[in-house]
Amino acid sequence: MEKKEEKINEEKKVTIEDLPGVGEATAEKLRENGYDDIMTLAVASPKDLADISGIAEGAAIKIINAARKYADVGNFETGEEILQRRKEILKLTTGSKALDTLLGGGIETQSITEFFGEFGSGKTQIMLQLAVNATLPPEQGGMDADVLIIDTENTFRPERIIQMARAKNLDPDETLKRIHVARAYNAHHQILLAEKASDIAKEFPIKLLIVDSLTSHFRSEYVGRGSLAERQQLLNKHMHDLLKFGTIYNAVIAVTNQVSANPAVFFGDPMTPIGGNIVGHTATFRIYLRKAKAGKRIARLIDSPYLPEGEAVLMLTEDGITDGV
Ligand code: ADP
Ligand code: MG
Repeated sequence: MEKKEEKINEEKKVTIEDLPGVGEATAEKLRENGYDDIMTLAVASPKDLADISGIAEGAAIKIINAARKYADVGNFETGEEILQRRKEILKLTTGSKALDTLLGGGIETQSITEFFGEFGSGKTQIMLQLAVNATLPPEQGGMDADVLIIDTENTFRPERIIQMARAKNLDPDETLKRIHVARAYNAHHQILLAEKASDIAKEFPIKLLIVDSLTSHFRSEYVGRGSLAERQQLLNKHMHDLLKFGTIYNAVIAVTNQVSANPAVFFGDPMTPIGGNIVGHTATFRIYLRKAKAGKRIARLIDSPYLPEGEAVLMLTEDGITDGV
C-alpha cells in the first residue's frame, strides 16, 4: 500500500508539461479533462486524448508513450510483481458473513463487483451498506476510507446511512462527511463523473467507488438496435475508466445493474443483466440478487475467475445488511 502511494507521488514530480508536444494550451485542455498527471496519461487511449485536446492521434500516441516511460506502466509484469500488487488487495465486508465467505473474505479492491437483480432486490441497500462499512477500521472489515457514489437514480438517502451508521456504533455525522455523492443526470454526465473521480481521490482517501446504477441511463438513452453499438462502446469505456480507478487507487468498485426478461430462456430464471458481454467481461465478480420471504435475499455468485459458484442468504433489516437466520 504505502509503496504504491510513494510510487504515485514520485510520478507526480514530473509534470505533464515535461512530455513532448505538451505546451501550455494542450496542458490546460488535458488538465480540464482530468488528465493531470503522468499516470493518468500513461493509461489513456490515443483516441480519447486526441478528441479532448484537439491534437492529432499520432501526437497523442507520442505523449502516451513518453508518459508510460516516466510512469513505468504498460511493460510486462512478472508473476512476482502481479503477486505483489495482489498482496495490496483489501477486502471490504458486505455486512453478511455468508456473502463475505462466498466472495472469499469480502469485496476485493482492484476489481469491479456487480450486483444485479430486479427492482427492490436490495441493490441500493447493499451499496449504502458498503459505503458505511468502508469507513470502518480494517479490524471491523472496513478500509478506514472515504467513499464516492455516482447516483444515477436519485436513490441515495442520508437518513438510511444514519440508521446503518448507528447500527455499527459510528457517529452518523462523521460517516456522512466521508461519503461524497454526485448525481449523474445522463449517461455522458455519468462517464464524466467517473473520469473526474481521480480529482476527488487526490483530496480524500477514496477506497470505494459506487455506481448505482451502472446501466439505467444507457438503457433509457440508447434505445433500439441502431444505437446498440454506440451504447456498448460508451459502456465499455466507462467500465474501463472505473477499473483503472480501482487499480490506481487500490479501491473497491461496486456497481449495480438491472435485469431484463430474456425471452430466449424457457426453463429456469429468464432474468439476465443489462449490458451484455461488455459488462459481463469487465466485472470480475457478478452477484445475482433475488427476493425471498421476510426480508431475506439470496445472493448468487456467478462467473468468478477463481471462486466456486454458490449462494448466500442475507437479510435486509432496519440495521442494514445482516446474516439470514
Ligand atoms: P433495488 O435498488 O434493488 O431496486 P433497494 O435496495 O432499494 O432495491 O431495496 C429496497 C428494499 O430494501 C425494500 O423493499 C425493503 O425491503 C428494504 N429496505 C429499505 N429500507 C429499509 C429499512 N429502513 N428497513 C428495512 N428494510 C429496508
Ligand atoms: Mg436501487
